[in-house]
Amino acid sequence: MDFEAERRRLVSWLKRAGFLASAKVERALLAVPRELFVPEELRELAYDDRPLPIGHGQTISAPSVVARMTELLDPDVGHRVLEVGTGSGYQAAVLAEIVAPTGAPRESWGHVWSIERIPELAEQARRNLERAGYSDRVTVVVGDGTLGYPEEAPYDRIMVTAAAPSIPPPLLEQLRVGGRLVAPIGDRWSQRLVVAEKTPRGVETWEDIEVLFVPLVGRYGWHP
Ligand code: SAH
Repeated sequence: MDFEAERRRLVSWLKRAGFLASAKVERALLAVPRELFVPEELRELAYDDRPLPIGHGQTISAPSVVARMTELLDPDVGHRVLEVGTGSGYQAAVLAEIVAPTGAPRESWGHVWSIERIPELAEQARRNLERAGYSDRVTVVVGDGTLGYPEEAPYDRIMVTAAAPSIPPPLLEQLRVGGRLVAPIGDRWSQRLVVAEKTPRGVETWEDIEVLFVPLVGRYGWHP
């Protein structure tokens, strides 16, 4: 299978369907090999617009959702980004490709910290990121991401990729003023992407498309 041709075909469809608008997100989706983040036996499906199982009852999100969430987050070169819910590591790699582009001078590079609660998935994501060439731009941490990762705060951008009943307060605390957060908020069976911007006057939020994510399990998420 010609994965590169498949990737280009998917990206042009994402543009036509309206999930993808900016040059930076398009470039990142063309650069990151999604086939390296899905289980070996599902590689042929890597460029279908659908979520795929990655083990432990979890999924890698559909490309259209990754595209839309990344557009809403609006990351930039040099940003410090926190992701909650590493899963396969694919979304983290897409974010890294934007904040620390391959080929750009290392001094300009930002960084992605990504938290995963299931240690085996974190280990698998580290391997995926290593193979795809992102291990020096993404740090995978095992823990409860609803508590954020205060060690590296504040962040310019925070993305939550598991469904939460509301935005975990520690994440808003760890967001820089002027920073932005994107998270799927709702009940277990349907959520809406919520964008939150931290301004000097407080937090402004607005809603985007409806989505379906696996639950965010933790102190400020759902209880196991
Ligand atoms: N962004 C991922 C997909 C995320 S699936 C990708 O690109 O593949 C959601 C992930 O969130 C799952 O792996 C799940 O184990 C994890 N998760 C759920 N609750 C969590 C929490 N409190 N902290 C960290 N990770 C969590």
